[in-house]
Parts: sequence; structure tokens; C-alpha cells
Amino acid sequence: MRTDVAVVGAGLSGLCAAALLTCLGVRCVVLEARDRIGGRICSVSSGAGGAESVRYDLGPAWFWPDIQPRMRQWVDEFGLSVFRQYADGAVLVERLGLQPAQKYEPGFVTEPPSMRLAGGMQSLVEAVAARLPQGCVRCGVRVSRIGFSDMGLIGVEAVGGTGNLTIKADRVILALPPRLVAGHIGFSPALPPSLHSALEVVPTWMAGQAKVLVIYESPFWRQRGLSGTVSSSVGPLGELHDASVPDGPPALFGFVSLPVGARRAMGQEALKQSVLAQLARLFGPQAAQPLGVYVADWAMDPDTAMPADCEPPSGHPAYGPLPELAGPWAGRLVFAGTEVAAEQGGYMEGAIEAATAAVEKLAGAISATRV
Ligand SMILES: Cc1cc2nc3c(=O)[nH]c(=O)nc-3n(C[C@H](O)[C@H](O)[C@H](O)COP(=O)(O)OP(=O)(O)OC[C@H]3O[C@@H](n4cnc5c(N)ncnc54)[C@H](O)[C@@H]3O)c2cc1C
Repeated sequence: MRTDVAVVGAGLSGLCAAALLTCLGVRCVVLEARDRIGGRICSVSSGAGGAESVRYDLGPAWFWPDIQPRMRQWVDEFGLSVFRQYADGAVLVERLGLQPAQKYEPGFVTEPPSMRLAGGMQSLVEAVAARLPQGCVRCGVRVSRIGFSDMGLIGVEAVGGTGNLTIKADRVILALPPRLVAGHIGFSPALPPSLHSALEVVPTWMAGQAKVLVIYESPFWRQRGLSGTVSSSVGPLGELHDASVPDGPPALFGFVSLPVGARRAMGQEALKQSVLAQLARLFGPQAAQPLGVYVADWAMDPDTAMPADCEPPSGHPAYGPLPELAGPWAGRLVFAGTEVAAEQGGYMEGAIEAATAAVEKLAGAISATRV
């Protein structure tokens, strides 16, 4: 199959890049390893009698339209419904050796406020994908090799459950975490060793994290004047928030504070039980009777995390564009994905920024060759 641009990865960045290319009249194909679009964006429906459109985020949930102009613009353009993260009421702080948890009033208010999308963040990637021509996105195909082929075209080889696929393209956008590029994709000719090393050291944002979502029949914590926000040094959840959505059963979510090795040794069933015990300790016995418990351990997902991501960075890394490529790949291979964003790298805002920058770079090269 022949196209102008092959985009590797159907996360927010790859899909935005494809939508921008499509607007410019440039043909593209998006190759995605998972059997779904969205990448780290992953929203699940409650499966508890709720409507299919009632979804909760196991990946990113928050954006900040006041300081994230690209997210604001894309969300507005698609007319997606936005609501404010629930944070009314007291915050609980659970400290080792100090029982019960301490209550702090007033609670914790983020400024600017964290906003969420009705239908989950998945609504955003679905809206972007709906702008693409039919057949543009191929899911379930993992790119393993990229090399020059006949007539100066680039062959992008992908392995899928139903067979292998090769796309021939003039140019390629790599819209996946740099560490995955270095670890999973072979290049011919090889990338410069300095670039390969630079890719390997970029931590994939949040890749070492695990998120647990617990859905309930009623928001019993709100009824007791609690926001659902908790900071705990006891665990297994270190930070909790209300995860309720409009028109759906209420919920709480938390980030697991146990290291990856401990999570692996424990297994998901034991982790769920330990989380329910913590929730009952914090919010009372009702918390041990959920409608559903969901675990997303991103560190164990090879389409997000590499072994080096098991040790999460201590703070937000200083992300930024990679060094310009020289040699045969110059102008033919371009990086996108939030980890190479010039601004707000790591966030969804960065994923859109990097996609826009990648397309601007390629658009210049494409119009030069079309003249
Ligand atoms: C638990 C969690 C919470 C987060 N919370 C927030 C938040 O509240 N706000 C915020 O702004 N950000 C948050 N983030 C970060 C946010 O998810 C990312 O910024 C954003 O989703 C990155 O998009 P991306 O397209 O750059 O990368 P990805 O979403 O990682 O997309 C890369 C895509 O490439 C695919 N892929 C990988 N390897 C291959 C291959 N060999 N061949 C083909 N395809 C491949 C992957 O399957 C994936 O679909 C969070 C992340 C996590 C995990």
C-alpha cells in the first residue's frame, strides 16, 4: 500500500497529526499496535447497567483549558461536553502510624480548575478519528521496522494478528514514546547512535503508574462532606480523587503508590482487595461494596512502558524536541508524541503541540517537493 505519510501510533498525537495532514490534502495511514485508538487515553464504561457513553478514565482525565489553548481549541471545535473535577468538601490525609485519617477543611482547590470530558477523554480521540478518511487508521498492527525501499520510498513494516503489513510512504511521523521507538523499531539505515541513546533516556510520562477506579451505587463520601480527595502514605493508593461522571454511577480513583515489583508480586486480585480495605478504612464499610473495580497498570503494558519506566522520574521531566536528524532520514522521519513537545510535554496539550509541529515541519518539505 502506498501513501504520502505513514503515522506510527494512534494516540492523541498521531491522530491529531493525521487530522491536520488530511486538512492539508496529504494522504496518510495511521498504524496502531493496540486493537483500539487512544494510546494512554483509555476510558471504560461502567458495565454496571450504565449507558455505553458513561465512561471513566483509566488514563488521563484532566485538562486545564485556561492554560492549555490547544486542548481548549480541539475540545471546543468538536463541541465536547466539559465538566469540572469534583473537589467540594474536606480532604483526608492518611499518615503511617496515625489512625484514623485526618480531615482538612476547606478542601484542596486547584487553580486553574481541572476539567474533564463527559464520555471520558476517549470522546476526544474518537472525535479526531471521525475526521479521518475511512480506512486511514489500521489497528492491531505493530510497527517493527522502517527502512528505505525501492524508488526512494520508505517501507514501514508492521506485524499484526492477521498478518504482516508493509506501507510505502514518502515520509513517516513517529507518534509514540521515544523509548518505544528505540526499543521496538529497527531502522535501515540505522538512526545515528547519539539519537538512539537520546531516545532511550526520555522517560515516558506516567508509564510507571497504575490507576484504580472503583464505581459505587451512591456517592457516600460526598454525603459526609468529603471531596474524595485523599493523600496517603499508607497505601496502596497514594493519591485519590472523586472520579464521578455526569449521569452515571459515582466513583473514586487513585494512583497506586506501591512500586512496580510489589504490584507484580501481589497480582491484580490481591491489589483490588487491598484497595477496598483502604477505602473502607477511609470512608467506612460502604466503600467495601463497589459495583466494579478496574485496574490499569500502565507499567505492565508494553505499548506504553519499557523496563526503564518501572522506576518513575521523581518530578516532571524536562521534555523537548529531539535533535534535528541529519543524513538520509532528514526531512523524511519526524517525531511527534507528547514527550517531544516544545511546550507542556507529558500532557495531552503537549501531544497536540508535538503533532502540530511535526505536520508543520513535513508540510514545508512536502510543498517544496510538489513545486
Ligand atoms: C494514568 C495516566 C494519567 C494521566 N493523566 C493525565 C492528565 O490528567 N492530563 C494530561 O494532560 N495527561 C495525562 N497523562 C498523559 C497523557 O496520557 C499523554 O500526554 C497523552 O495521552 C500522550 O499521547 P501520545 O499520542 O503522545 O502518546 P500515546 O498515547 O502513548 O500514543 C502512542 C501510541 O503508539 C502506539 N504504539 C506503540 N508502539 C507501537 C508500534 N511499534 N507500532 C504501532 N503503534 C505503536 C501505542 O499503542 C499508542 O496508541 C496521563 C497518563 C497516564 C498513563
